[in-house]
Amino acid sequence: MIRIETIADVRQLVREARQSGKTIGFVPTMGYLHEGHLTLVEAAKRACDFVVVSIFVNPLQFGPNEDLEKYPRNIERDSNLLSETGHADVLFNPSVDEMYPMPMATSIDLPELGAQLCGRTRLTHFKGVATVVNKLFNIVQPDFAFFGQKDGQQVAIIKRMVKDLSMPTEIIVVPTVRESSGLAKSSRNIYLSPEEREHATILHQSLMWAKEQIERGERSGLALAQGIRERIEADPLAKLDYAEVVSLDTLLPMTHLQGPIMMAVAVYFGKARLIDNFQLNI
Ligand code: AMP
Repeated sequence: MIRIETIADVRQLVREARQSGKTIGFVPTMGYLHEGHLTLVEAAKRACDFVVVSIFVNPLQFGPNEDLEKYPRNIERDSNLLSETGHADVLFNPSVDEMYPMPMATSIDLPELGAQLCGRTRLTHFKGVATVVNKLFNIVQPDFAFFGQKDGQQVAIIKRMVKDLSMPTEIIVVPTVRESSGLAKSSRNIYLSPEEREHATILHQSLMWAKEQIERGERSGLALAQGIRERIEADPLAKLDYAEVVSLDTLLPMTHLQGPIMMAVAVYFGKARLIDNFQLNI
C-alpha cells in the first residue's frame, strides 16, 4: 500500500493503474477506521483491481458547534490497519490545505434531500458532503465507489448527485456492520461510556421492532415512527433527535408505506450523536 498526500500523486498512480487495464475502486472515509470501513475496502478489492482509500476529515461538512476539532484521528493506526488487510493499494490522506488551498467558491447542493432528517439539525452538512465527494471523485475518477448503508441519507444524496450529473462512477452500498449487541459501528462510538454503549443498542432494537410490525402487516408510517420514538424516549440516557419513516426517493415522511422506504433514527447519548436506519421495499 502506498501512502500519499497530494492530488497530483493520486492522479499519477490512478493513471498508471488505468493504463495497465485495471478498474478503479474508491472508498472515501474520515478515518479512525473500524470494521465497517474495512468491510467497504474488502468489498472494493473484491470488485476492483486497484483500490484507493481516502482519509480526510472534511471541514465543510461540520457545523460551527460540531465536533470537527475533537473528531478522532489516528493516521498511523489507520495506515497500519489498512495495510494489514492487503486490500488497499493507495491511502490518500490530504491536508486541508491540499484539498482547499483557497476558500471554496463552488459547492454541490441537493437542498430538498439535504434538508430532511439529519439536515434539520446539521444545516449545511450534506452540502459539505456532496461537495467533497464530488471533488474526491474528480481526483480519483473511480469506476466504483463504496458507501455504507449506515449513512442512509448520505447514500441517497450521493446516488442522486451521480444520477443528476451523469457522473461515470457506480455507487455500491455495503450493509451496516454491527457490534454483536446490534450497535452500528461508528468512529463516534468512542465518545460513549460503557453504560451509554449498552443503552445505545436501543437504536437498532427500536428499528427491529418496527421491522417486525411491518412483517405483521403494519403500513402506517406515522404509527411506526411514533412507536420507534416512544421506545427511544423510554430509555433514560437517550435524547431523541428524530425517528422517521420516509420514502427512500424523496426522504419525506410516508403515511402509507409502499415502495422503497427507510426508517431512520438519530439519538444523542451524552456527547455522541448516533444514527442508524433500516431500509426495505414494500
Ligand atoms: P466515515 O468515516 O464515518 O465518513 O465513513 C466512511 C464510510 O464508511 C461511509 O460510507 C460510511 O457509511 C461507512 N461506514 C461507517 N460506519 C459503517 C458501518 N458500521 N458499516 C458499514 N459502513 C460504515
